[in-house]
Amino acid sequence: MVRRNASLPTRPRAVVAFLVALLALLGAGHAAAQALTPVRVAEHVWYVRGDPGMASAANRGFNSNAGFVVTRDSVVVIDALGTPPLGEALLAAIRTVSDKPVRRVILTHYHADHFYGLPAFKAAGAEVWAHRAGRAYFTSGEAAARLAQRRQDLFPWVDDTTRLVEADRWLDGDTTFEEGGLHFQVRFVGPAHSSEDLMVSVDEDGVVFCGDLIFAGRVPFVGNADSRRWLAAIDRLAALKPKILVTGHGAHATDAAANLALTRDYLTYLRAQMGKAVDEMIPFDEAYARTDWTRFSTLPAFEAANRINAYGTYLTLERESLGQ
Ligand SMILES: [Zn+2]
Repeated sequence: MVRRNASLPTRPRAVVAFLVALLALLGAGHAAAQALTPVRVAEHVWYVRGDPGMASAANRGFNSNAGFVVTRDSVVVIDALGTPPLGEALLAAIRTVSDKPVRRVILTHYHADHFYGLPAFKAAGAEVWAHRAGRAYFTSGEAAARLAQRRQDLFPWVDDTTRLVEADRWLDGDTTFEEGGLHFQVRFVGPAHSSEDLMVSVDEDGVVFCGDLIFAGRVPFVGNADSRRWLAAIDRLAALKPKILVTGHGAHATDAAANLALTRDYLTYLRAQMGKAVDEMIPFDEAYARTDWTRFSTLPAFEAANRINAYGTYLTLERESLGQ
């Protein structure tokens, strides 16, 4: 930094020009949305695929997926990505495929990396749907705390002007609808990865958007999620027999069964190992060190998520053992 300061311009006109250029650069960084490339997975269905790993300044918050379905009359969007500029970029990507109106955005869940892009879709006239359990996110203080963290970590893509958008329609449970000749099933499968998890099936194409119920090819983020119900939700998803699975993170799966198996195996293993430790009253640190993680340790996000997942699961199983 010091060396760079030493080369700053010193003449007044040069200083002004430098500041103008700097402001333009910052402004451009704020407004500019990276170009996203839609991947077509079925006749009516596309998605954009975020980078692996956690949201960071390096990936501009682009670490999650969002999908869209082009019907005869309109576009239905599933999830809206993790920053307002990414929402604009997603809308621009949709416009490279279709100019039909975006009627609705269905959120799989209210996690920051899936809904901060909503303002662009509200401005385009879309109606936002989410499950009713997501309301608690806004009243509990969780939304505000996460926004403060994102303003720090994802500036300038998330900043003081970033507005969180609540759903226009809070769903009570499962629902189905027909839109432009296609049949959609929206299934409530929470609380699992979050309290308000939804899956969306596009029946004609055999595609299921499953949000973060499945993390394709990587260690899922579990934290203190209810992994018992999560496993039950995976069973419900398997019962839909999807041909193609579009997950919240990672590549879409044409071999849906294999991806279901990975998340299911991981959750089952976490619960078995941490459950044994709770039963034997072994402290968490010791239990974690003793556990053989080699089955999962080469997967993406293992380093970032595994210890947090194990600790959350340890606490969950302590509660379960007390009958809570
Ligand atoms: Zn999530």
